[in-house]
Amino acid sequence: MKEIILVKYGEIILKGGNRPKFENMLIKNISNAVKNIAETRITIAQATIYIEVEDEDKIDIVCDRLAKIFGIVSITRAAVCEKTLESIESAAIAYCRDSLKPGIRFKVEAKRADKKFPLNSVETAIEVGGFLDENCDGLIVDVHNPEVTVQVEIRDFSAFVYCRENKIKGPGGMPIGSGGKATLLLSGGIDSPVAGHMMAKRGTEIDAVNFFSFPYTSERAKEKVEELAAILAQYTSKINLYIVPFTDIQLVIRDNCPEEHMTLIMRRFMMQIAERIAFKNKSQALITGESAGQVASQTLAALNVTNSVVTMPVLRPLIGMDKTEIIERAREINTFETSILPYEDCCTVFTPKHPTTNPKLSQIEKSESVLDVDGLIKNSLGGVEKIEIYPRL
Ligand code: ATP
Ligand code: MG
Repeated sequence: MKEIILVKYGEIILKGGNRPKFENMLIKNISNAVKNIAETRITIAQATIYIEVEDEDKIDIVCDRLAKIFGIVSITRAAVCEKTLESIESAAIAYCRDSLKPGIRFKVEAKRADKKFPLNSVETAIEVGGFLDENCDGLIVDVHNPEVTVQVEIRDFSAFVYCRENKIKGPGGMPIGSGGKATLLLSGGIDSPVAGHMMAKRGTEIDAVNFFSFPYTSERAKEKVEELAAILAQYTSKINLYIVPFTDIQLVIRDNCPEEHMTLIMRRFMMQIAERIAFKNKSQALITGESAGQVASQTLAALNVTNSVVTMPVLRPLIGMDKTEIIERAREINTFETSILPYEDCCTVFTPKHPTTNPKLSQIEKSESVLDVDGLIKNSLGGVEKIEIYPRL
């Protein structure tokens, strides 16, 4: 039996005059995401996107992929049939048989968009319901509290039948590209991939920057960051990852600044370098995985100190989340297992024993004033490596 995938989208519907623009973005994102998996034909009608997959064996993989595309709220596989009562009935019994077991409470719901179909929605539901009741053993009709709802949709070009219970939940959010572009400071930790995912969910295209301290951090640490970016790219499509050499800066800070200010001065460098990369690539904001009070460099006083070196907005989607909530998210988006691999991050290599938790901006600026900040930044930017990261299939 021929199958089709029906995709419903959410928030886009509320976008008034901009709705077609967002719909087109979503269709483009879907088509990009599945183009290496299978030949598809994608159409849109009545707030539903229809995806026909040439090679039916690939439908499972296409659905998995769709479950990671922001803007989609649900994905349903349906049987396609002719717009006659007979073919709808035989499709219903063939396609929903596995769900219609003896003792199951069920109902049929119908939607008739094609008013030329001779029966209205209620009449269609009654007819198909009666047919299933007669032809499947032991079913119980229950229109108020069914365990299985067989849905019939009669559209202009075809009719579809599916079991509502088999609907797959989509990720929600807005299509990537609809929410501008931002640059994520991506460490190898648990937090920053989650932060990137949260902004991507709002439609933001993501570039990533990683600060790398060779030889203090290993090639494996870099591979781990690339792997995290590849998992994120499943939701965002291609990510440009900028690897920034950071060792020289860290050594100069270590040798010339008070130990308790080391982390904050280092973070101020990170922000400035990320901002310059962001400007150059037309990003409109920075994203970090900071969460209020998580570590010394994330107290409000410390955030003030790091924030004050940049003018671009710094988005911190995790700011009010507990670590346990962040971990839960990381598991959901599949980054957790990679994040906990035990390779050193550049921050952990140069961590002071007693970092300040209540820094004064003037003190930090004074400690920093012995450094050639601009020269160090330029040097570091000269060694940036750009890696194009594609979704991990
Ligand atoms: P994460 O779990 O994401 O590593 P964290 O709790 O370890 O975060 P910090 O090390 O203080 O916190 O870093 C705070 C934020 O700064 C990170 O979430 C990330 O956005 C950014 N950051 C830290 N280290 C790096 C790095 N090596 N490269 C890029 N960004 C970094
Ligand atoms: Mg970290």
